[in-house]
Amino acid sequence: MPWDFETEPEFQQKLDWMRSFIDEQLIPLEPMLGRAPAEEWALVKRHLQQQVKAQGLWACHLDPALGGPGFGQMKLALMHELIGRCPYSMEIFGNQAPDSGNSELLATGANEAQKERWLWPNIAGTLRSAFALTEPFEAGADPTRLRTTARRDGDDWVIDGHKWFCTNGSFADFIIVMAETNPEGRPYQHASMFVVEKGTPGLNIVRDIPTMREPDPVFGELGNHAEILFESCRVPAENLIGNPGDGFILAQKRLGGGRIHHAMRWIGLAKRALEITCERAVSRESHGRRLADHQMVQGFIFDSRSEIEAARLITFQAAWKMDRVGARAARADISMAKATASRMLLAVLDRGIQVCGALGYSGDLPLEEWYRTNRFGPIGDGPDEVHKVVVVKDTLKGIEPVEGWPTAHIPSRREASQRDFAQLLQEARRSTS
Ligand SMILES: Cc1cc2nc3c(=O)[nH]c(=O)nc-3n(C[C@H](O)[C@H](O)[C@H](O)COP(=O)(O)OP(=O)(O)OC[C@H]3O[C@@H](n4cnc5c(N)ncnc54)[C@H](O)[C@@H]3O)c2cc1C
Repeated sequence: MPWDFETEPEFQQKLDWMRSFIDEQLIPLEPMLGRAPAEEWALVKRHLQQQVKAQGLWACHLDPALGGPGFGQMKLALMHELIGRCPYSMEIFGNQAPDSGNSELLATGANEAQKERWLWPNIAGTLRSAFALTEPFEAGADPTRLRTTARRDGDDWVIDGHKWFCTNGSFADFIIVMAETNPEGRPYQHASMFVVEKGTPGLNIVRDIPTMREPDPVFGELGNHAEILFESCRVPAENLIGNPGDGFILAQKRLGGGRIHHAMRWIGLAKRALEITCERAVSRESHGRRLADHQMVQGFIFDSRSEIEAARLITFQAAWKMDRVGARAARADISMAKATASRMLLAVLDRGIQVCGALGYSGDLPLEEWYRTNRFGPIGDGPDEVHKVVVVKDTLKGIEPVEGWPTAHIPSRREASQRDFAQLLQEARRSTS
């Protein structure tokens, strides 16, 4: 069948289980987040994670060789749409960033000893990881502009540099660090990745950075973003992932699927924000009618629903292409999905806050927190502007310039059109006479 908007019945059953588990067990616990003592929360989390594991839905982004089901991106996209409904459900389903991307990276680039030491415990959730690429003064939107270096010294590598926005950097058991090792290999073969374990001398976590989501972070908490100085930080040669110069090849592997999953989670959250918006719109009255009966509010609801659907279809198409032709060939589609879904979510949340009025602006509803938390979307994982450039380059590929009038210029096409029409007219007359 060429077009089908349904998935296989057995997989739909899994999705149905996920939907009720998330809506009936995870969402009701949201108001306890950050309030329950850490050890009690850890216990509850383990109990919930066990239910996910029993369903065979734990860390589903992984290949079968790593204990995952090998669902492919299309099915993962459907799962992440549901996971997105509740921001902490990534932790419960074992695909929280940055661990999910890091485990994919280690699966691709690490040798057997490295897998034993870091990958398997990372997948099991007993060792948590972070990823340090971005720097305050150079590498950012252009990650190739690294200043952090690693130089070989005997059996060790010595890392020096300044990183920031390393998510979970102050919490993680190990950090995968991107550093320059081979300046002649620019632009894409000059960097390498190293595992730096917590407590390594020279790994100096300066602070957790205050953000829109968390203006007053408690140092070392999950979800914070660390600023880090590597000061003559010495790691053994066996901490290098892959070969010297492989850093960007490995980094690309880490990001393709992850971007689709991000986009689908944003779509899932946007849908939930629209549900909250609509419930308020039919429940509150103003100027003699329900909010939902005012045309401008209807306009908000129309815009949100249609933008969600558009982003959803773009993202599904990217997932479908990834499954068919691989991440490289689907690059522009992945970028389109990322840049469309990130802004769509903010627009839907903003309209939701507006429709809910002061209540929407308040912490009594989750909309304002979701807005602050997800404002990173258009910046992180490559700013949207860079993704737009990818899409535009792809769109312009093969388009040739023309001299003079555009090929669609009607007066210049008229003569040929008249000739074609006269010929068709003649044939039509013959066939009807
Ligand atoms: C919440 C959060 C978590 C993060 N987690 C991590 C992490 O775990 N590890 C990690 O290494 N990094 C992480 N980052 C960093 C993230 O990857 C970078 O923020 C991102 O790559 C952009 O880099 P920058 O912020 O330095 O922006 P800059 O490079 O300073 O760019 C600033 C702006 O300039 C514009 N711009 C830049 N280049 C172009 C271009 N070519 N065309 C048009 N406009 C352009 C864009 O508007 C861009 O937003 C995180 C960031 C956030 C916000």
